[in-house]
Amino acid sequence: MRLSSCRSLALLPLVLAAACASQPAGPKPMADLPNVSTDAILADIRKLASDEFEGRAPGSNGETLTVQYLSEEFRKAGLEPGNPDGTWVQKVPLVAVTSAPTPLVVRKGGVKKPFKVRDEFIAFSKHVVDQVTIEDSELVFAGYGVQAPEYNWDDFKGLDVKGKTIIVLVNDPPVPDPANTKELDSKAFGGKAMTYYGRWTYKFEKAAELGASGVLIVHETYPAGYPWTVVQGMAAERFNLAAPDKNLGRSKVEGWLTMEAATALLKMAGQDYQKLKALAATPAFKAVPLGMTASLSVKQTMRTVASQNVIGKLPGADPALKEEYVIYTAHWDHFGRCAAVDGDDICNGALDNASGTAVMLEIARKMKTVKPAPKRTLLFLSVTAEEQGLLGSEYYGDFPLYPLEKTLGVVNIDGINQWGRTSDLVVVGLGASDLDDYAAEAAREQNRTLKPDAEPEKGFYYRSDHFNFAKKGVPAFDPDAGVDYIGKPGDYSQKKRDEYTNTDYHKPSDQVKADWDLGGAAEDAKLFLAIGYRVAQAAAYPEWKTGNEFRSIREAALGKKK
Ligand SMILES: [Zn+2]
Repeated sequence: MRLSSCRSLALLPLVLAAACASQPAGPKPMADLPNVSTDAILADIRKLASDEFEGRAPGSNGETLTVQYLSEEFRKAGLEPGNPDGTWVQKVPLVAVTSAPTPLVVRKGGVKKPFKVRDEFIAFSKHVVDQVTIEDSELVFAGYGVQAPEYNWDDFKGLDVKGKTIIVLVNDPPVPDPANTKELDSKAFGGKAMTYYGRWTYKFEKAAELGASGVLIVHETYPAGYPWTVVQGMAAERFNLAAPDKNLGRSKVEGWLTMEAATALLKMAGQDYQKLKALAATPAFKAVPLGMTASLSVKQTMRTVASQNVIGKLPGADPALKEEYVIYTAHWDHFGRCAAVDGDDICNGALDNASGTAVMLEIARKMKTVKPAPKRTLLFLSVTAEEQGLLGSEYYGDFPLYPLEKTLGVVNIDGINQWGRTSDLVVVGLGASDLDDYAAEAAREQNRTLKPDAEPEKGFYYRSDHFNFAKKGVPAFDPDAGVDYIGKPGDYSQKKRDEYTNTDYHKPSDQVKADWDLGGAAEDAKLFLAIGYRVAQAAAYPEWKTGNEFRSIREAALGKKK
């Protein structure tokens, strides 16, 4: 851990203690860092979540008001415009696409078998074009579609899938524990926890990287955690980034097959789905060419939406370090006008994520007052279109305003604790990087502890904006509200969370409530401030922990620069 070991003088031999006393001071104690104001946080939430802001949909008048408000508050906080072009924004061009595929036709020699849209498969394209077609593209069963150097795992093993269409399974390869085959091997793909290799977004990205023309994921309800109807929902209008390359680097066709369709397709190739699936959970598995081809077209109707990330900058005070960066992220967007409940059709998104945005603003104001001023530059990045698939942060990751290899870490704030003080803080993916050590140290000074999230198999770490930094190698911290409320019964947290999930989540009633108590959020905010400040002052860069799936990406990124 990189926090000064000189803090615990009592534990050191006298000589060493004397040496330590003459060293530069350790990290500034929490007690000397400024407290954040719950009143300021609440006032910002009320503003951003007001009906005037119309639920902050990307491209709406609500966006215009939100961008103005955030820029103005950053300015008042004493920040500088965060874009090197002198503005407070980074333009994020979005495109909303509705895809209409033809049936998928699989051919083996002279035999053709069509598969039905929606009932048996769904497909779309990230290419920003009116139509994509794949014709007689060779089909390959590619297991879990994973290349994971840290687990010595490669489902392709040199098989060239350029121009081909790959069929892959959902989730991480479920490798059994050699000592107890009923359990998963905790040393492979996080055991029960999901790694990024298990997310469907990874499968699509890997297919693109390998040059596959098409990629179809086999849907199974149990491992996916949701039914086919949810997958069918993804066939509705989808937002994408309108990147300058029109996303032509992606596979032409991305989609899902039902398990029944996949079973039938593989049977046509003389293969057994369950047998292949069992083989795919072993490291010896190698992708299997099926001796068949796939043909399919997708017609697309599109509308463009111009949106923006908002960014403020607190330049570092140390000339040698000011071109190194620590970033706070919080998405400002929500769903705008939505399905009415009791005549109210504005999804205000007070908790999701006016609250995180407000906490970030307050951290910016307080960071400006810390003495000595931070050595490295702090960036406050409020991103758009999180609700449409983390698009604003993806755009920043693809087109960073400051080099990612000079970006030490990211603290993301998506939702806050609104129910009072807790004796703990939940960290999603706890143990991922050294940032968690900074958090543990700050929590200890608050007499609090860190806890992992309760459902690591759901892969929450991969579902908010910090993740777009993690996948580029930048260590990223993903906190969630604590669960042990001081002076409240043990089931209080679960009860309140369930209430929110069932009643308010992504609904017009996500508004500021009379019973909110931001005392806990204020402590969390101060802890986040401490992490950012201490990383900005630190002697070394935070790193991913050994075995983490992003460590090799970071090493490669930093190595290139050496
Ligand atoms: Zn949301």
